[in-house]
Amino acid sequence: MKVEQNESKVKVLYIVGTGHSGSTLLNLILGSSKNAYSLGEVAHFSQSGLQQCNCSEIISTCDLWGEYFSKFSLGDTEGIYPLKSSFKEYLKFMFACLLKRNRVGLASLFSGKNYADSVLYNELLSKVKGSIRPGVEILIDSSKGFNRLFYLSTLPGIDLSVIHLVRDGRSVIHSYEKRGYSGFTRIFKWLLINLQIDFFCKKFMKSKSLRLSYDQFCMDPSLALAQINSFFGLKVDTVKYLDDVNSSVNHNFAGNHHVSRKKIESVRCDLSWKKNFSWLKATMLSVLLYVPNKIWVYPSKKKLKEVKE
Ligand SMILES: [Zn+2]
Repeated sequence: MKVEQNESKVKVLYIVGTGHSGSTLLNLILGSSKNAYSLGEVAHFSQSGLQQCNCSEIISTCDLWGEYFSKFSLGDTEGIYPLKSSFKEYLKFMFACLLKRNRVGLASLFSGKNYADSVLYNELLSKVKGSIRPGVEILIDSSKGFNRLFYLSTLPGIDLSVIHLVRDGRSVIHSYEKRGYSGFTRIFKWLLINLQIDFFCKKFMKSKSLRLSYDQFCMDPSLALAQINSFFGLKVDTVKYLDDVNSSVNHNFAGNHHVSRKKIESVRCDLSWKKNFSWLKATMLSVLLYVPNKIWVYPSKKKLKEVKE
């Protein structure tokens, strides 16, 4: 099955999911597609002036982003739709998901707002096609945030498609704990956010969204990339994708810098939670997360092959 394309709109492939779900790696690999360009986590753009871009320049002087930074940070608009939103807004979105029948209904939540995302995407696409990669038709935004997906889905000038990226909850919790965050609250956030994304995609973006297990992607990247190519019309080389990533300069400025600024030797599953969690903790988490992991992260390979065909 292929996503229907609308020729008159800017095509954006949005990667949505929780933190630490592997989006930096996926974004870089998909960005090696002959007809797509990876922008990275665009939601951080307005606050990124002094951050270093992966091209080694800071954002405000980078070849790709520099001119837009001054324009969208100091212009008449409210900038780019931010990644973080208030809890009140989160509740508003949750009820809107339940009550509204279609995406036109969702747009009423943003009346009076003047964010510049559509303009930025259009200008970036022209610039990328003109001076970086002429064959580009699709921009990839790996901001991950659900609220941003919600907002982008209401913009009439964007032909939006979505990858809902889900990683084994035990690996996500382990990744947060390694960086000093509490794993306990993350379990519930992981569940709630993925439930919300799943519900949203099924209700509002059914033919334009694909759920991707990060763990199955790592087990068989070529199969997963073939599936993604087929669904979204991308042209990622399913054999030489790492050569393509490592041989090109990217202009991403957020995400996991340990991944995005180093040569990627291989794609492999990180199961270090098995070594580092106590037996009791590993068992409790495995029981608690059994059902969502089974549905979201470890669907049968037979099912993956059926989708690919
Ligand atoms: Zn750059």
